[in-house]
Amino acid sequence: KVVIFWFRRDLRLEDNVGLQQAVVSGYPVLPIFIFDSDILEKLEVKQDRRVDYIYQVLDAMNSVLHTHGSTLYIDYGKPLAIFKTIIALYDVQGVYCNRDYEPQAIKRDELIDSYLKDRGIQFNTYKDQVIFEKSDIVKDDSTPYTVYTPYSKKWKSLLAPQNYASVVVSAEHFYKTNPLKITDLEVLGFQKTDIIFEKPNLELEIISDYDKKRDFPALDHTTHLGIALRFGTISIRSCVAFALKYNEIWLSELIWREFFMQILYHYPRVVTDSFKPKYDSIIWRNNEAEFQLWCSGKTGYPIVDAGMRQLNETGFMHNRVRMITASFLCKHLLIDWRWGEAYFAQKLLDYDLAANNGNWQWVAGCGCDAAPYFRIFNPTAQTLKFDADLSYIKTWNPDYEKYIQIPIVSHEEARERALRVYKQAL
Ligand code: FAD
Repeated sequence: KVVIFWFRRDLRLEDNVGLQQAVVSGYPVLPIFIFDSDILEKLEVKQDRRVDYIYQVLDAMNSVLHTHGSTLYIDYGKPLAIFKTIIALYDVQGVYCNRDYEPQAIKRDELIDSYLKDRGIQFNTYKDQVIFEKSDIVKDDSTPYTVYTPYSKKWKSLLAPQNYASVVVSAEHFYKTNPLKITDLEVLGFQKTDIIFEKPNLELEIISDYDKKRDFPALDHTTHLGIALRFGTISIRSCVAFALKYNEIWLSELIWREFFMQILYHYPRVVTDSFKPKYDSIIWRNNEAEFQLWCSGKTGYPIVDAGMRQLNETGFMHNRVRMITASFLCKHLLIDWRWGEAYFAQKLLDYDLAANNGNWQWVAGCGCDAAPYFRIFNPTAQTLKFDADLSYIKTWNPDYEKYIQIPIVSHEEARERALRVYKQAL
């Protein structure tokens, strides 16, 4: 007799709510991970740092499990089919996992839940990847918040120490079995990349003066914990406890993360539609050649090009530059925000549907609590303010002088055009 713990966006053995609950069930815990073929088949590029990252994390967790005489059960395919196999192999007394709030994940879990229920097996889910989920934070009339500042105030007012206390997982209760090696990346149809997984750290040096330095891309003074939060190699509770102690501004970024997660949960239509429907009547130019120049960092605007090249080379882009590049695409080039969103989704290591969609809609003006449409970032003014000595530009776009001669559009004309087209639609 065993219970299953299903790892998804919570790839860690410590401070993991669902895993702890599986352990206290009293049955030996068989930890599993499913490489979901529905997700992997959609990835066009087969050299994907994120898949490699997951692979390395699983390998590291598996080594730890081996020291406890246990092992990870890993399979590739559709989750339902894999559960059918597992249930035929083991006497399963219950399945445990942490909740995921993306629309596809909710559908997947409903399917598994009903399959298990028919067989008398309980599917137990827990809140782990956020401090507050679903309708934990709502207005006094019980409707969801769609504006960040009051949401964040309520979030802080409801926060109590038990919300961010870490949970202890005892390794004694894992199912004892022969160690299994994890399936090679190549077997999954993927190749190795240059990414190297290291256990994420909360760095005091970065977080303590985050508020003063976070806006200057050349300083690279943000935590780079996005990927760790995305795949749960760090627990949000440990981040919040640290933020409360050392930097409230950094805490506000973690609250933005939850704000967009609850928006996606309550308004799943944002995956395809503008949060503000009027914005879906904007007539985008959607010029394919211009889009390609933007993607490859050849617009002639040095800061935009530096950002896109940092993204293409490393899978990361500084937040300030994400805003500049995204605004340039939507406003200067009048290309649908969904194109940019999809490109970022392909490239960002920390890609997260809720955060990416929420931020793209914010930049385009069509999101909840978005930047007003007439706020058009001027790439040159942004450079003077945030990269005055051009060191970020020189790092990522050393040949910027070559392209600066032939900018894709003139700022003033593009600005006027954007204002005209937006105004027409609204
Ligand atoms: P830090 O600055 O150290 O912040 C810590 C964590 O807080 C981040 O890792 C992230 O989990 C969260 N966070 C910070 N800012 C935001 C924000 N504005 N919205 C939501 N969460 C936030 N963030 C993603 O995690 N995934 C995305 O796919 C994503 N796409 C974006 C697209 C655009 C167009 C823009 C403007 C922003 C996007 N962001 C996204 C938000 C932000 O840029 C990144 O979270 C941040 O740059 C990641 O760097 P970091 O890990 O060093 O974060």
